Amino acid sequence: MRFEGTEIQEAVAATARKFAKERAEPAAAEADRTGRFPEELIRELGALGLLAVNVPAAHGGSEAGAIAYARSVMELARADCSLAVTMAVTNMVGETIARFGTEAQKSRCLPLLASGEWLAGSFGLSEPQAGSDPNSMATRAERRGDRYILNGSKQWITSGDRAGVIIVWARTDVSAGNKGITAFLVEGGTPGLVVGKHEEKMGLRSSSTVGLTFEDCEVPESAILGQLGHGLRVALAALDGGRIGIASQATGTIRAALDASVRYAQERQAFGQPIAGFQAVSFALADMQTSHDAARLLTLRAAALKEAGRPFGREAAMAKLFASEAAQVAVSKAVQIHGGYGYVNSFPVERYFRDARVQTIYEGTSEIQRLVIARHVLGG
Ligand SMILES: Cc1cc2nc3c(=O)[nH]c(=O)nc-3n(C[C@H](O)[C@H](O)[C@H](O)COP(=O)(O)OP(=O)(O)OC[C@H]3O[C@@H](n4cnc5c(N)ncnc54)[C@H](O)[C@@H]3O)c2cc1C
Repeated sequence: MRFEGTEIQEAVAATARKFAKERAEPAAAEADRTGRFPEELIRELGALGLLAVNVPAAHGGSEAGAIAYARSVMELARADCSLAVTMAVTNMVGETIARFGTEAQKSRCLPLLASGEWLAGSFGLSEPQAGSDPNSMATRAERRGDRYILNGSKQWITSGDRAGVIIVWARTDVSAGNKGITAFLVEGGTPGLVVGKHEEKMGLRSSSTVGLTFEDCEVPESAILGQLGHGLRVALAALDGGRIGIASQATGTIRAALDASVRYAQERQAFGQPIAGFQAVSFALADMQTSHDAARLLTLRAAALKEAGRPFGREAAMAKLFASEAAQVAVSKAVQIHGGYGYVNSFPVERYFRDARVQTIYEGTSEIQRLVIARHVLGG
């Protein structure tokens, strides 16, 4: 069964597929080896409209919707998960500014994010001691006249050293619990914003992951994104959409693992025949195809609900949970099918194995997705 997309969805997916095949895939192994941030490719993504797929055209976005976004992330992740995550976070930041920002914030940030002139947008929620539980964050923003002074640290911030703008969450009222957190737009290079350690990661090696410290970092009151004290609402809304992005990444990863495995299984000979002829191998391929299709369908369902303006949090959590867990199984099977060659970097499955691992962790671990889903199941 084939689901036809609208003209714009098909056009965006085709653009992403072409770019992934011709530009991203040939560079992926080298980018993984060197860990070099792919500046040039990011600017190309901007020129193609893929850095703000679901952002209004009035602000420089492609205004192509959530389905086109999901499909473009799938295509990129199939080629290079590092590039896909960099692109996905920028899209998420752009969408969040488009939804919660003032006209001035949108006019300032969105054209720069969409075009790639700003190489990235970043999402500064996690802290060294607060990941799954953002409500325990320690970063503070203290009001002084019409300014706010930020102090604290953020951890694991994708593209935090490259970002033109970072959405930073900070506590503006320590006595107000989860109603005392506010989101701020902090531009790269603001005095007091200090870029810390570059994490040496298992995978996603050409994406940048850094710690950020705020040392009396001063921003105007007009930097508040959304309303004072409503920061967690902004974060949770962004994460719902972000989960579609990670589910799409995982779906693209399964596709890449499957394609590589099919190719290898048809070529590699053992006991006088291609290994694809062994039922154990062909059944693994059958399982990978099935999990790919299930992940894709769950992801596109969540995207379709989002695009229709309907609630999609439960569906996004299910898609993220299923696709990221299925990706772990798929990349492991792909390595197994490649035998010893799967364990070395002569074939891309070794990279897929490392890149996939984080998918059950970031933007809400699998356990947190289960909490979200269980709450819906139990009517909480
Ligand atoms: C490569 C990478 C990029 C990232 N990019 C960003 C980014 O751009 N912006 C950003 O803000 N963050 C980012 N993160 C952070 C990521 O979202 C967090 O690592 C993740 O949310 C988990 O938080 P934690 O690491 O503090 O783990 P913890 O919250 O300490 O969790 C540790 C373990 O305990 C489990 N656990 C915690 N609470 C519960 C519970 N209530 N029930 C059951 N189990 C529970 C978790 O599932 C996990 O298995 C990134 C992380 C990585 C690795």
